[in-house]
Amino acid sequence: SITRCSVIVVGAGVSGISAAKVLAEKGVEDLVILEASDRIGGRVRKEDFGGVSVELGAGWVAGVGGKESNPVWELARNSGLRTCFSDYSNARYNIYDRSGKIFPSGVAADSYKKAVESAIQMIRHQEANHHGGGGIGGADLSKLSEQLSDPKTPIELAIDFILHDFEMAEVEPISTFLEFGEQEYLVADERGYEYILYKMAETFLFSSEGKILDSRLKLNKVVRELQHSRNGVMVKTEDGCVYEADYVILSVSLGVLQSDLITFRPPLPRWKTEAIEKCDVMVYTKIFLKFPYKFWPCGPGKEFFIYAHERRGYFTFWQHMENAYPGSNILVVTLTNGESKRVEAQSDEETLKEAMGVLRDMFGPDIPNATDILVPRWWNNRFQRGSYSNYPIISNPQVVNNIKAPLGRIFFSGEHTSEKFSGYVHGGYLAGIDTADSLLEEMRKEAERKAENQTFM
Ligand code: FAD
Repeated sequence: SITRCSVIVVGAGVSGISAAKVLAEKGVEDLVILEASDRIGGRVRKEDFGGVSVELGAGWVAGVGGKESNPVWELARNSGLRTCFSDYSNARYNIYDRSGKIFPSGVAADSYKKAVESAIQMIRHQEANHHGGGGIGGADLSKLSEQLSDPKTPIELAIDFILHDFEMAEVEPISTFLEFGEQEYLVADERGYEYILYKMAETFLFSSEGKILDSRLKLNKVVRELQHSRNGVMVKTEDGCVYEADYVILSVSLGVLQSDLITFRPPLPRWKTEAIEKCDVMVYTKIFLKFPYKFWPCGPGKEFFIYAHERRGYFTFWQHMENAYPGSNILVVTLTNGESKRVEAQSDEETLKEAMGVLRDMFGPDIPNATDILVPRWWNNRFQRGSYSNYPIISNPQVVNNIKAPLGRIFFSGEHTSEKFSGYVHGGYLAGIDTADSLLEEMRKEAERKAENQTFM
């Protein structure tokens, strides 16, 4: 059967929901939201683990306390979401080596400062080179990189990992922190971060007792084909349903766009596919471990700690959850990219064994075994294919413009289409609003063109 409507929104993550909300509020109620999974939220996702609610995807409201108010912070406050302040810059004072010794804070601070300085210098040189401004090139650059920033010792490797995979802001100014402030709040609410999305959805989708019952939201609808022409769009789902509309908003992740899940007919033009290929997809994995009791230091400044190993990114970044959920006895370790893909491919028992080895290095042989482990698999999830987009530091602004530019009747949305806030929940949220606004503008123009044609006929 064929369903007709004026706009199809593909994806019910934060960007799809915020786009649909704007459309509905502006009178476009004749829309359908097609979501591949069995829930809304996308990369905002909680799961019950070890007696509490843990966030597999986004965990922090990043960018709070600045000149401008972060809209996601507003949403969190308005829906009464429980959050706690968290400051991971302290992690640098809790760096353990393989024998369980903590590096003296002087040593850690010095290595840190050196690493930041050399990273900044590297970027400046690359920028100069990139803009053809008489920078150094080729062999010189790699020599410089060797002298300056090639981290070698475990502590250098750990700091390099933290700087590049977590605290980019120390190296390059990041719009989120410049505009919304430098604080970050960890969501610690049984209803999950996703509660703000349900609240948003309820304002325009019929719901009852916290469940969305509106027939315009269609779950378990995996879009596999998107046909588009001057006259309209047609979308086919894996279960054989067909939807026709005037326009489509495509809010699937960059990782999905890079994969072959959706076939475009006609295919996307080169300027579009090239831009999609040029942006990197980060994999970021939070592994949760439940213990019978806690054996790690708590107290102020101890929430985050670092393990320095000769392999970069090997179970480097740790957090205890006692601030969020006192008495939960849960630790979180974050892996990224290659290490994420590696653990996704192996059994959870194997990963548990590795994590316990690392913890015994830090805290001694007598600590108890974890009783449970949770390993999210964002990379192997065919509706995600990664955690978030990561534009190369020296990337051409044309790349993000081309990624977000509409193609006829296809409007692109999602975190990766946000020029300033890509990679964040607020990036997705604001991108949704932005995409809906551009589409409304296009709809208005089309209506005008039609009216003009009619007067001439
Ligand atoms: P998504 O949430 O991915 O929504 C897209 C939707 O499209 C999904 O629901 C998907 O199922 C659906 N879909 C995919 N393919 C199809 C198809 N073929 N047919 C139909 N539907 C389809 N941000 C922060 O601000 N703070 C953080 O602390 C933070 N930490 C993060 C940690 C992790 C591990 C991850 C994964 C992300 C994190 N982020 C964080 C980023 C943030 O979660 C995302 O930027 C944001 O949620 C993206 O929203 P979106 O709507 O663009 O995409």
